Amino acid sequence: AAKRAGANRYTEHTAEMDSTAQHDADLAAALRRGLDMGEFRLVYQPIVELPGGRITGVEALVRWHPPDGPPVSPAEFIPVAEQTGLILDLGLWVIETACADAARWQHRHGAGAPRVNINVSARQLLDPDLPDQVASTIARYRLDPDKITLEITETAVFGGGAALNTVHDLRDLGVGVALDDFGTGQSSLTLLRTCPVTTLKVDKSFIDELNGTAEQEAIATSLSTIAATLGLRAVAEGVETQAQASRLEALGYRYAQGYFFAKPGPAALIDAALEAPVVID
Ligand code: C2E
Ligand code: MG
Ligand code: MG
Ligand code: MG
Repeated sequence: AAKRAGANRYTEHTAEMDSTAQHDADLAAALRRGLDMGEFRLVYQPIVELPGGRITGVEALVRWHPPDGPPVSPAEFIPVAEQTGLILDLGLWVIETACADAARWQHRHGAGAPRVNINVSARQLLDPDLPDQVASTIARYRLDPDKITLEITETAVFGGGAALNTVHDLRDLGVGVALDDFGTGQSSLTLLRTCPVTTLKVDKSFIDELNGTAEQEAIATSLSTIAATLGLRAVAEGVETQAQASRLEALGYRYAQGYFFAKPGPAALIDAALEAPVVID
């Protein structure tokens, strides 16, 4: 009986693995088709100044709308795109599209145009062509490189190597580099000595806890102090309430992003917000 149970478990296990692998393979094929068929869109979420809520930046976030089903979350398809290498083509499309929108904003608003943050995955940072691709896109759109910030994760550059070299090459172009989800990675503080970043995006988990204990406030304060001391911007991620926004301001945060200020939306919504700024106090 024991043997049969073991055999069953093994059978179920492989069946489960097959179905996961099958699901990922189907998803990868659909992603490839979706990229060729133009099924991806970028939405932008404002990054605002505290206090006042003026839009100083936007983060580009990719969306996939397959024609035959509901939208698929990037949390589901980005990992598959990474594993299959499709992220390289998708990432190029994201850079191209975000730079085209950034150029329009720069043309209309000059120095007052928002910075545009673009997420770059670990796999893209290992691609030796990335810095040249970014350089040529920026040149083609005559963008001020200072208006572009690439968001990377701690995990991607942890351990140094080629990915860290790429970050140095990107900084040499004059673009900003932000550490996304800061504080959740393996080696946040050590990284600050070797990785030439310009912005820390303080992870939502630290912001969520702000109405909690004194310890949580101390951590949030320390993170903004570290950023200020090193001459980096700190952006608080995932701000959902007025109370959090007020607290963050009191703790020294100058930049915030989250549903309280605005959800991600199409570029046209950012166009409109830049034309008729709404001030939140
Ligand atoms: P991320 O870069 O940390 O982006 C922030 C995520 O938090 C976004 O989810 C955003 O919609 C969500 N968010 C913003 N404010 C709030 C808030 O107040 N409350 C809550 N609960 N969530 C908030 P989204 O768009 O689903 O993206 C998820 C992740 O997918 C991103 O996390 C990023 O890692 C990845 N991603 C998205 N677009 C791209 C892309 O173009 N390229 C790459 N490589 N990754 C991307
Ligand atoms: Mg990000
Ligand atoms: Mg983030
Ligand atoms: Mg995140």
